[in-house]
Amino acid sequence: MTELELILTGQTQSHLHWLSNNIAIHKDMLSAFEQLRAAAKTAGLELTIASGFRSFERQLAIWQNKFSGLTPIKDASNRVVAIAQLTNLEKINAIMLFSALPGASRHHWGCDIDVYAKNLLPDQQALALEPWEYQASGHFYPLTLWLAEHAKDFGFFLPYDKFRGGVSHEPWHLSYLPLSQHYQQAYNLALLAETLANSNIQGKTQLIALLPELYQRYIVNIASA
Ligand SMILES: [Zn+2]
Repeated sequence: MTELELILTGQTQSHLHWLSNNIAIHKDMLSAFEQLRAAAKTAGLELTIASGFRSFERQLAIWQNKFSGLTPIKDASNRVVAIAQLTNLEKINAIMLFSALPGASRHHWGCDIDVYAKNLLPDQQALALEPWEYQASGHFYPLTLWLAEHAKDFGFFLPYDKFRGGVSHEPWHLSYLPLSQHYQQAYNLALLAETLANSNIQGKTQLIALLPELYQRYIVNIASA
């Protein structure tokens, strides 16, 4: 695989700048992110990254744990899905509402981040990264409003701005367009198929058979910037 293909599928860390022990972002996004954070601060929002780069291995572990039932799978109403009663196809769709296929997460690219406002999180409350926190009665609503107005000034957009029949609405997920549009154009179905074929992902045979459909429904089905 080329260096670009390794970046696209989460199999290298050569493109990253580490902000802390566990959070890294694309090195060419650092300056834009710092400007975004500084502007948010003047608006009274402590913009904080909950999740930046995620490797193929990490995304694979998330997948395997959900597919095998070790981690509960939630539905759109935040209820746990009873996976024992599901076919493999139903299970794949249930997982992909909230979790990307390894090799197909925009978090592999380093230019996509999940953010929240640290100072708006109530004491004693854990961050859930669920839509209600960002909606009109939720504690992060001021951040939602601010991002809707200002994120684009710094090159960021929200690829999961609403539910489009694939990935759930993710009001916390920002993408840095100058980098992500380049990666998005280079990304393709054959690359994902090859990456999965070389892995030990659970549900592999069915996933590969369904891949063209999943690709359309979950991977390219995003907001236009
Ligand atoms: Zn995200």
